[in-house]
Amino acid sequence: MRKIFYTMLIFMLTACLSGCSDEAKDTNANEIPTEVATGKIDDKPTSDGKTDTKTSDGKPAETKPEVKPTVTAQEGKDYVVAADDYSNLQLADPTIPVYDKYNIWERQEKGLPVALPELAPYEAESTVYLTFDDGPDDKVTPQVLDILKAEGVKATFYVCGNMVDANPTVLKRIFDEGHAIGNHSYNHDYKQIYASPWAFMEQIIQTDESIRNVIGVRPFIIRAPGGAGGMFNANYYAMVDDCGYVEHDWNVLTEDATPSRPNASDQVNNVLKYLGEQPPRTVILLMHCNGDKAETVKALPEIIHFLRDWGYKFGVVTPMTPQPW
Ligand SMILES: [Zn+2]
Repeated sequence: MRKIFYTMLIFMLTACLSGCSDEAKDTNANEIPTEVATGKIDDKPTSDGKTDTKTSDGKPAETKPEVKPTVTAQEGKDYVVAADDYSNLQLADPTIPVYDKYNIWERQEKGLPVALPELAPYEAESTVYLTFDDGPDDKVTPQVLDILKAEGVKATFYVCGNMVDANPTVLKRIFDEGHAIGNHSYNHDYKQIYASPWAFMEQIIQTDESIRNVIGVRPFIIRAPGGAGGMFNANYYAMVDDCGYVEHDWNVLTEDATPSRPNASDQVNNVLKYLGEQPPRTVILLMHCNGDKAETVKALPEIIHFLRDWGYKFGVVTPMTPQPW
């Protein structure tokens, strides 16, 4: 427990000394920032329109979820809720999402572990993890969900908090249909997120609360906007570990968010290109499910079909999912 306090203290002091965010300056380094713990951050960040994560229907990011939590945070058939001591996280089945009923502040207050224990990576079968970033929106994400349902496969959605606040019913559908939900920051604004490790973590914690408001539980899995491999230094990795999250980048992508905007056929070919002649045992496939991603929707059935033909199992990302490199 001391480790996390100590780490946050160091980062906040470092942030202040280097003259970064107002949040860090306003925070007493000896205390948990209660405005974060309660989800009442005054300067609630919103999309600045520079990223592709703004709400597709123009709703303000402050929109309150109308969906009430219906999950009682009990262990169910379709997902696992972490035990207080994390003793039940080593799963034999890679298709079951894992969540926590507590946020990290509640774990600290209760004297429970925050950092995750060592977990053996799932490597029993060749497994593909379809991942969709930057949603949920109210147009493309439901189309992706329709395809996944028709094909009978599970996937992972790395969601942004402002999109969750704007489209809570879509998040609820993702959860109810057995897919995994991961955390992809609140507003995807690189300038804010990467001001400091603590600025990054504030957005993760804020998004956890947006998610928990809708489904009653929060994820352990996160994906750094832009990928940790390109954006993190050692301090970010240490912060993520100490706060009990697991970050996963990808090793295969459709390139659906690149400026070239490949059509469906090109996206299928891009996947084949990254898989190469000796496809990896673990495939973490990056796609997006917001905005103008109609070609991704068109490409998805064919991608699923040939991966299935090649013998891959379809899993959801959990803390035991192997890293893609
Ligand atoms: Zn993204």
